[in-house]
Amino acid sequence: MFTRPRSASARFALARLTLVRLTLGMAAAAAPFALAGTATAQEYLSGIEWEKPPVVTPGKTDSDPPSDAVVLFDGTDLSRWRGGDRWSVVDGVAVTGKGQITSLDEFGDCQVHIEWSAPDPPKGSGQGRGNSGVFLMGRYELQVLDSYDNPTYFDGQAGAIYKQTPPAVNAMRPPGQWNSYDIFWTAPRFDDDGSLTSPAYITVLHNGVLILNHFELQGDTPFNRPPKYSAHSEKGPISLQDHGDPVRFRNIWVREFKPATGVQARQPYLKQGDQELPINE
Ligand code: MG
Repeated sequence: MFTRPRSASARFALARLTLVRLTLGMAAAAAPFALAGTATAQEYLSGIEWEKPPVVTPGKTDSDPPSDAVVLFDGTDLSRWRGGDRWSVVDGVAVTGKGQITSLDEFGDCQVHIEWSAPDPPKGSGQGRGNSGVFLMGRYELQVLDSYDNPTYFDGQAGAIYKQTPPAVNAMRPPGQWNSYDIFWTAPRFDDDGSLTSPAYITVLHNGVLILNHFELQGDTPFNRPPKYSAHSEKGPISLQDHGDPVRFRNIWVREFKPATGVQARQPYLKQGDQELPINE
Protein backbone atom coordinates (compact mmCIF):
# COMPACT_ATOMS: atom_id res chain seq x y z
CA MET A 1 0.00 0.00 0.00
CA PHE A 2 1.18 3.51 -0.80
CA THR A 3 2.21 5.67 2.13
CA ARG A 4 3.39 9.25 2.00
CA PRO A 5 7.20 9.41 2.36
CA ARG A 6 8.31 11.69 5.14
CA SER A 7 11.79 12.86 4.19
CA ALA A 8 12.34 15.65 1.69
CA SER A 9 14.66 13.53 -0.48
CA ALA A 10 12.12 10.72 -0.57
CA ARG A 11 9.39 13.18 -1.54
CA PHE A 12 11.62 14.60 -4.30
CA ALA A 13 12.36 11.13 -5.64
CA LEU A 14 8.66 10.33 -5.67
CA ALA A 15 7.86 13.61 -7.37
CA ARG A 16 10.42 12.86 -10.09
CA LEU A 17 9.01 9.41 -10.57
CA THR A 18 5.49 10.81 -10.82
CA LEU A 19 6.59 13.43 -13.31
CA VAL A 20 8.26 10.81 -15.51
CA ARG A 21 5.17 8.60 -15.40
CA LEU A 22 2.96 11.58 -16.20
CA THR A 23 5.17 12.65 -19.09
CA LEU A 24 5.31 9.16 -20.55
CA GLY A 25 1.58 8.76 -20.14
CA MET A 26 0.79 12.02 -21.85
CA ALA A 27 3.33 11.39 -24.59
CA ALA A 28 1.58 8.13 -25.34
CA ALA A 29 -1.83 9.81 -25.41
CA ALA A 30 -1.58 13.16 -27.19
CA ALA A 31 2.06 14.23 -26.80
CA PRO A 32 1.27 17.71 -25.41
CA PHE A 33 4.74 17.76 -23.84
CA ALA A 34 7.84 16.82 -25.76
CA LEU A 35 10.34 14.39 -24.39
CA ALA A 36 13.78 15.88 -24.73
CA GLY A 37 15.18 15.37 -28.19
CA THR A 38 12.18 13.53 -29.59
CA ALA A 39 9.70 16.22 -30.65
CA THR A 40 8.86 19.92 -30.54
CA ALA A 41 6.61 21.19 -27.77
CA GLN A 42 2.98 21.76 -28.55
CA GLU A 43 1.92 25.39 -28.29
CA TYR A 44 -1.49 26.99 -27.88
CA LEU A 45 -2.19 30.07 -30.02
CA SER A 46 -5.24 32.25 -29.47
CA GLY A 47 -5.59 33.39 -33.08
CA ILE A 48 -5.83 37.00 -31.88
CA GLU A 49 -3.59 39.60 -33.46
CA TRP A 50 -2.86 41.95 -30.55
CA GLU A 51 -1.96 45.62 -30.87
CA LYS A 52 1.38 46.44 -29.29
CA PRO A 53 0.75 47.83 -25.75
CA PRO A 54 1.96 51.44 -25.56
CA VAL A 55 4.95 52.11 -23.34
CA VAL A 56 4.20 54.08 -20.16
CA THR A 57 7.02 55.29 -17.93
CA PRO A 58 6.06 54.75 -14.30
CA GLY A 59 6.51 57.51 -11.71
CA LYS A 60 9.47 57.60 -9.36
CA THR A 61 7.28 55.87 -6.76
CA ASP A 62 3.90 54.22 -7.29
CA SER A 63 2.27 57.41 -5.93
CA ASP A 64 3.89 59.61 -8.57
CA PRO A 65 2.10 60.16 -11.89
CA PRO A 66 3.09 57.86 -14.76
CA SER A 67 3.96 59.45 -18.10
CA ASP A 68 0.42 59.15 -19.50
CA ALA A 69 -1.35 60.68 -16.47
CA VAL A 70 -3.30 63.93 -16.48
CA VAL A 71 -2.04 65.75 -13.40
CA LEU A 72 -4.99 67.63 -11.91
CA PHE A 73 -3.09 69.00 -8.91
CA ASP A 74 0.66 68.90 -8.35
CA GLY A 75 0.79 71.38 -5.46
CA THR A 76 1.05 74.50 -7.62
CA ASP A 77 -2.50 75.76 -8.12
CA LEU A 78 -6.07 74.69 -8.85
CA SER A 79 -6.22 76.14 -12.36
CA ARG A 80 -7.44 72.82 -13.76
CA TRP A 81 -10.52 73.00 -11.54
CA ARG A 82 -13.72 74.97 -11.90
CA GLY A 83 -14.32 76.71 -8.56
CA GLY A 84 -10.68 76.26 -7.62
CA ASP A 85 -10.31 79.97 -6.86
CA ARG A 86 -12.62 79.49 -3.86
CA TRP A 87 -10.25 76.94 -2.28
CA SER A 88 -6.80 77.75 -1.01
CA VAL A 89 -3.41 76.26 -1.79
CA VAL A 90 -0.98 76.42 1.14
CA ASP A 91 2.48 74.85 1.08
CA GLY A 92 1.60 72.69 -1.93
CA VAL A 93 -1.63 71.44 -0.39
CA ALA A 94 -5.20 72.29 -1.47
CA VAL A 95 -7.61 73.04 1.36
CA THR A 96 -11.38 72.80 1.03
CA GLY A 97 -13.01 76.20 0.63
CA LYS A 98 -16.48 77.34 -0.36
CA GLY A 99 -18.29 75.02 -2.76
CA GLN A 100 -17.17 71.92 -4.58
CA ILE A 101 -14.46 72.02 -7.22
CA THR A 102 -14.79 70.21 -10.55
CA SER A 103 -12.04 69.22 -12.93
CA LEU A 104 -12.07 70.82 -16.37
CA ASP A 105 -10.86 67.51 -17.80
CA GLU A 106 -13.37 64.72 -18.20
CA PHE A 107 -12.81 60.98 -18.04
CA GLY A 108 -14.57 57.71 -18.77
CA ASP A 109 -12.91 54.49 -17.60
CA CYS A 110 -9.93 55.59 -15.56
CA GLN A 111 -7.44 55.20 -12.75
CA VAL A 112 -7.41 57.98 -10.16
CA HIS A 113 -4.79 58.69 -7.52
CA ILE A 114 -5.63 61.21 -4.81
CA GLU A 115 -4.21 61.93 -1.38
CA TRP A 116 -6.14 63.56 1.44
CA SER A 117 -5.77 64.38 5.08
CA ALA A 118 -8.46 64.93 7.73
CA PRO A 119 -8.23 68.07 9.91
CA ASP A 120 -5.90 67.90 12.89
CA PRO A 121 -6.91 68.38 15.64
CA PRO A 122 -10.19 66.64 14.76
CA LYS A 123 -13.38 68.65 15.17
CA GLY A 124 -16.98 67.42 15.24
CA SER A 125 -18.23 63.87 15.09
CA GLY A 126 -19.85 61.38 12.72
CA GLN A 127 -20.57 62.90 9.31
CA GLY A 128 -19.48 66.28 10.67
CA ARG A 129 -15.84 65.31 11.03
CA GLY A 130 -13.49 65.68 8.07
CA ASN A 131 -16.24 65.18 5.50
CA SER A 132 -15.53 65.60 1.79
CA GLY A 133 -15.85 63.25 -1.16
CA VAL A 134 -14.45 62.22 -4.50
CA PHE A 135 -17.24 62.31 -7.09
CA LEU A 136 -16.51 60.18 -10.16
CA MET A 137 -18.13 61.64 -13.28
CA GLY A 138 -19.38 64.41 -11.00
CA ARG A 139 -22.12 62.22 -9.48
CA TYR A 140 -20.88 58.96 -7.88
CA GLU A 141 -19.40 59.64 -4.44
CA LEU A 142 -16.53 57.76 -2.88
CA GLN A 143 -16.76 59.09 0.67
CA VAL A 144 -13.96 61.07 2.27
CA LEU A 145 -14.37 61.30 6.05
CA ASP A 146 -12.26 61.22 9.18
CA SER A 147 -13.10 57.61 10.03
CA TYR A 148 -10.30 57.20 12.53
CA ASP A 149 -12.07 56.34 15.77
CA ASN A 150 -15.16 58.22 14.60
CA PRO A 151 -18.32 56.08 14.45
CA THR A 152 -20.96 56.87 11.86
CA TYR A 153 -23.28 54.81 9.64
CA PHE A 154 -21.11 52.27 7.87
CA ASP A 155 -22.17 53.10 4.32
CA GLY A 156 -21.17 56.68 5.05
CA GLN A 157 -17.66 56.14 6.44
CA ALA A 158 -14.43 56.76 4.56
CA GLY A 159 -14.16 54.48 1.54
CA ALA A 160 -17.92 53.94 1.29
CA ILE A 161 -19.83 54.38 -1.93
CA TYR A 162 -22.18 56.73 -0.20
CA LYS A 163 -25.40 54.99 0.93
CA GLN A 164 -24.62 51.91 -1.20
CA THR A 165 -21.83 50.00 0.52
CA PRO A 166 -19.31 50.40 3.34
CA PRO A 167 -15.66 49.67 2.56
CA ALA A 168 -14.67 46.06 3.25
CA VAL A 169 -12.33 47.29 6.00
CA ASN A 170 -11.43 50.57 7.68
CA ALA A 171 -7.87 51.41 6.58
CA MET A 172 -7.92 54.99 7.90
CA ARG A 173 -4.84 56.81 9.15
CA PRO A 174 -5.12 59.24 12.10
CA PRO A 175 -6.07 62.91 11.54
CA GLY A 176 -3.23 64.96 10.10
CA GLN A 177 -1.61 61.98 8.38
CA TRP A 178 -1.99 61.44 4.65
CA ASN A 179 -4.38 58.91 3.17
CA SER A 180 -4.35 57.76 -0.43
CA TYR A 181 -7.11 56.46 -2.65
CA ASP A 182 -6.21 54.53 -5.78
CA ILE A 183 -9.43 54.22 -7.71
CA PHE A 184 -10.14 51.97 -10.69
CA TRP A 185 -13.31 53.14 -12.36
CA THR A 186 -15.47 51.59 -15.05
CA ALA A 187 -17.99 54.10 -16.34
CA PRO A 188 -21.62 53.09 -16.84
CA ARG A 189 -22.88 52.70 -20.40
CA PHE A 190 -26.20 53.89 -21.78
CA ASP A 191 -28.16 53.21 -24.95
CA ASP A 192 -29.03 55.98 -27.37
CA ASP A 193 -32.50 55.94 -25.81
CA GLY A 194 -30.95 56.56 -22.39
CA SER A 195 -31.41 53.11 -20.85
CA LEU A 196 -28.58 51.56 -18.86
CA THR A 197 -26.68 48.86 -20.74
CA SER A 198 -23.85 48.35 -18.23
CA PRO A 199 -23.53 49.68 -14.65
CA ALA A 200 -20.53 51.45 -13.18
CA TYR A 201 -17.93 49.40 -11.30
CA ILE A 202 -15.35 50.59 -8.83
CA THR A 203 -12.27 49.09 -7.19
CA VAL A 204 -10.44 51.09 -4.52
CA LEU A 205 -7.22 50.81 -2.56
CA HIS A 206 -7.19 52.92 0.62
CA ASN A 207 -3.59 53.36 1.74
CA GLY A 208 -2.73 50.33 -0.40
CA VAL A 209 -5.46 48.20 1.20
CA LEU A 210 -8.18 46.78 -1.04
CA ILE A 211 -11.50 48.13 0.30
CA LEU A 212 -13.81 47.82 -2.73
CA ASN A 213 -13.37 45.10 -5.33
CA HIS A 214 -15.27 45.59 -8.58
CA PHE A 215 -18.30 46.89 -6.70
CA GLU A 216 -21.34 47.39 -8.94
CA LEU A 217 -22.96 50.76 -8.35
CA GLN A 218 -26.74 50.96 -8.17
CA GLY A 219 -26.72 54.51 -9.51
CA ASP A 220 -25.81 57.92 -8.12
CA THR A 221 -25.26 58.63 -4.43
CA PRO A 222 -27.64 61.26 -3.03
CA PHE A 223 -28.54 61.71 0.64
CA ASN A 224 -32.30 62.01 0.26
CA ARG A 225 -33.49 59.34 -2.19
CA PRO A 226 -32.51 55.90 -3.48
CA PRO A 227 -29.69 55.64 -6.00
CA LYS A 228 -30.64 55.70 -9.66
CA TYR A 229 -29.00 55.99 -13.03
CA SER A 230 -29.74 58.86 -15.38
CA ALA A 231 -28.14 58.77 -18.79
CA HIS A 232 -25.06 60.95 -19.15
CA SER A 233 -22.17 61.29 -21.54
CA GLU A 234 -19.31 58.81 -21.85
CA LYS A 235 -16.96 61.08 -19.93
CA GLY A 236 -17.38 63.24 -16.87
CA PRO A 237 -15.29 65.32 -14.46
CA ILE A 238 -13.89 64.54 -11.03
CA SER A 239 -15.48 66.68 -8.31
CA LEU A 240 -14.28 67.19 -4.75
CA GLN A 241 -16.93 67.97 -2.17
CA ASP A 242 -17.10 70.90 0.22
CA HIS A 243 -18.95 69.66 3.31
CA GLY A 244 -17.78 72.53 5.50
CA ASP A 245 -14.66 70.82 6.84
CA PRO A 246 -11.09 71.91 5.97
CA VAL A 247 -9.96 68.63 4.40
CA ARG A 248 -6.60 68.82 2.63
CA PHE A 249 -5.73 67.31 -0.76
CA ARG A 250 -2.55 66.75 -2.72
CA ASN A 251 -1.06 64.75 -5.61
CA ILE A 252 -4.12 64.20 -7.79
CA TRP A 253 -3.71 62.48 -11.15
CA VAL A 254 -5.82 60.46 -13.53
CA ARG A 255 -5.07 58.00 -16.30
CA GLU A 256 -7.66 57.09 -18.86
CA PHE A 257 -7.85 53.34 -19.13
CA LYS A 258 -8.14 51.48 -22.40
CA PRO A 259 -7.81 47.70 -22.37
CA ALA A 260 -5.49 45.95 -24.80
CA THR A 261 -7.05 45.55 -28.23
CA GLY A 262 -6.73 42.85 -30.84
CA VAL A 263 -8.52 41.19 -33.72
CA GLN A 264 -9.58 37.56 -33.72
CA ALA A 265 -7.89 36.89 -37.03
CA ARG A 266 -8.58 33.14 -36.92
CA GLN A 267 -9.79 30.41 -34.60
CA PRO A 268 -7.54 29.33 -31.72
CA TYR A 269 -5.29 26.43 -32.63
CA LEU A 270 -2.40 24.23 -31.53
CA LYS A 271 0.97 24.18 -33.19
CA GLN A 272 3.69 21.59 -33.08
CA GLY A 273 6.70 22.29 -35.23
CA ASP A 274 5.28 23.22 -38.64
CA GLN A 275 2.14 21.28 -38.01
CA GLU A 276 -1.15 22.90 -36.99
CA LEU A 277 -3.53 20.83 -34.91
CA PRO A 278 -7.16 21.49 -34.15
CA ILE A 279 -8.25 21.90 -30.55
CA ASN A 280 -10.30 18.87 -29.55
CA GLU A 281 -12.08 19.45 -26.28
MG1 MG B 1 -18.92 63.36 1.67
